[in-house]
Amino acid sequence: MHFHTKNVHFPNKEKAAEVSKTKPIYQTSAFTFKDFEDMEQYFEGEKSYLYTRMGNPNSDDLGRGAAELEGAEMGAASASGLAAILSGVLAAAKQGDHIIATQDLYGGTYSLFANDLKDFGIEVSFVDMEDREAVEQAFQENTVLLYSESITNPLLRVEDIEGLSQVAMAHDVMLMIDNTFATPYLIRPHEKGADIVAHSATKYIGGHSDVTGGVVTGSAEIIQKAKQKTAMLGSSISPFEAWLAVRGLKTMSVRMQKQCSNAAALAEALEQEALIKKVYYPKAASPNGNGAVVTIELGDQLDAGSFSKHLGWIKVVPTLAGLETSVTYPKTTSHRPLSEEDRQKLGVTDRTIRISVGIEDERDIIDGFRKALAETPTATSTS
Ligand SMILES: *Cc1c(COP(=O)(O)O)cnc(C)c1O
Repeated sequence: MHFHTKNVHFPNKEKAAEVSKTKPIYQTSAFTFKDFEDMEQYFEGEKSYLYTRMGNPNSDDLGRGAAELEGAEMGAASASGLAAILSGVLAAAKQGDHIIATQDLYGGTYSLFANDLKDFGIEVSFVDMEDREAVEQAFQENTVLLYSESITNPLLRVEDIEGLSQVAMAHDVMLMIDNTFATPYLIRPHEKGADIVAHSATKYIGGHSDVTGGVVTGSAEIIQKAKQKTAMLGSSISPFEAWLAVRGLKTMSVRMQKQCSNAAALAEALEQEALIKKVYYPKAASPNGNGAVVTIELGDQLDAGSFSKHLGWIKVVPTLAGLETSVTYPKTTSHRPLSEEDRQKLGVTDRTIRISVGIEDERDIIDGFRKALAETPTATSTS
């Protein structure tokens, strides 16, 4: 099957017991049994479900769907992207272990790694992943995991996953990739050697800005561990949230196709605008497209706050991947915990704006930004 077909048909692999075309929502906290002997079957691995925190058909559906599309043996869903990331990390690392992570991480992951993992006794070194020398030097005796993102936030650097996989293999450590920005429609990190892939299903998997969820994929061995961590941390996804995420997932490839083509057109149009200093948009992320996020740096004549007041129907939203085009301000959202110096080092300035491109008509999106540029008062640079 080709990707768009597979994207719609993945859940039907399961043998349907009933005639319902869609999967019912198993909105239940527990499952019933004929007798104690029947209940014992769960513990012998003969039955799949006992108690929803440990597993639920809707949650498994999301795990299975993501695994199918990522080309992995197994997937496990969690209550959020961060919960999924934590489950994957704890499946690979324990107290006393060390992780090497890219320095341009998603803000929430950065905080989790820099603060909370430390409290678990797991140490993380942050490096410039493009600087292979620095990556090599970061390895310690207790390093167990290399961690990065397929397309980074907000400057959209496309990670060399194959290259990192070779480094990970040479050091006998695992490679984990957050594939949220790319989705498996664009990039499938397992095919490039990643051991664990994580997603915030809150973004393109859900796709409609109405779900908070996450999922990790990989070998059954590692994902069973991640699933166990989720059950014990209590960060399981609710059946309804999982059902919504799967509903979203089925249209992921068509949404991505449209959003990527809109994003490419917008990036090209914004390149022509004199009031924009720089446009960040990946060049060769994948044969299917280069992602649905475009980041811009406004020219010195424009103030970002003032620009945000002239966007018309384009909303200010501190996240990405919805159906509607929106913008956010990385300085005060995803990169808020960072010092001014660290932000500058990463290239996030006072004029950096991240655009999440939606499914609207390409010309309306382009016109929306042209109008905002035209209406924002310009000031002569004071520097
Ligand atoms: C949003 C996001 C996360 C965190 O996901 P939540 O669902 O908010 O917990 C992790 N990584 C990336 C790249 C994200 O965009």
